[in-house]
Amino acid sequence: MSVGEVRQGGLKVWSPSVTPPIGVDLTEEQALAVAFRHLASIGFAENMAGHITWQPEGRTEMLVNPWGLWWQELTASDICVVDENAHVVRGRWDVTPAIHIHTELHRMRDDARVVIHNHPYYVSLIAALGKLPDLVHQTGSLFLDDMRFVETYDGEVDSAPRARELAERIGDANLTILANHGVITTGGTVAEAVYRAASIDRVCKLAYQVMLTGQQPTEMNRSDMYGMKASLIERAADVYWAGAARMTIKADPEVLN
Ligand SMILES: [Zn+2]
Repeated sequence: MSVGEVRQGGLKVWSPSVTPPIGVDLTEEQALAVAFRHLASIGFAENMAGHITWQPEGRTEMLVNPWGLWWQELTASDICVVDENAHVVRGRWDVTPAIHIHTELHRMRDDARVVIHNHPYYVSLIAALGKLPDLVHQTGSLFLDDMRFVETYDGEVDSAPRARELAERIGDANLTILANHGVITTGGTVAEAVYRAASIDRVCKLAYQVMLTGQQPTEMNRSDMYGMKASLIERAADVYWAGAARMTIKADPEVLN
């Protein structure tokens, strides 16, 4: 398809004059704690599994959740900081050995400032079928040409060499489904990565339920999907995040402690 045929979207087409704010200035630890609580609240987390790291631009250290706490109980003061080789440099807890998935992705990808991993149910279902979800709804445009499938499950990724191999297979994708395991989403900002994570389980649930009908879904026009993809990333991610943060803080202000 030539560039001329691609439908434009995003901020080029429309940009809001005002957007509803979070309402409070969050520290990095507070923002990450809110991200954990929000994703847990929409069913993204399998009990205490999973991790999110945030390596802000220009830094080698990264923020991460501690080993053993559930996403929905985390508060800002639980967030740990590790160095680029996964040693805890700040915080009162230990971190997962699977942290290397994150350290190596951050190292290889300048654009992946935030890395999210867990085992949401419908992603796990599609992952068990050995495939990526069919994109059958406009929200799926978010993942157009941006998904990878890692087809072999080979246990815990608990060392830097194994994690480097995985990062190479992920390449430049922002969404990777791991066979018989779960999902990795990346983003340049917390808002972007959280929005992808929050969207993928629903995309997989819809794809699965469409499959159950036994009927062929109507195909979407790729040109329209490109425009929609730009709109979702450039417009929707930030307002999604602000709303998620407002509601999470309102539900339990202690998340900020
Ligand atoms: Zn996992």
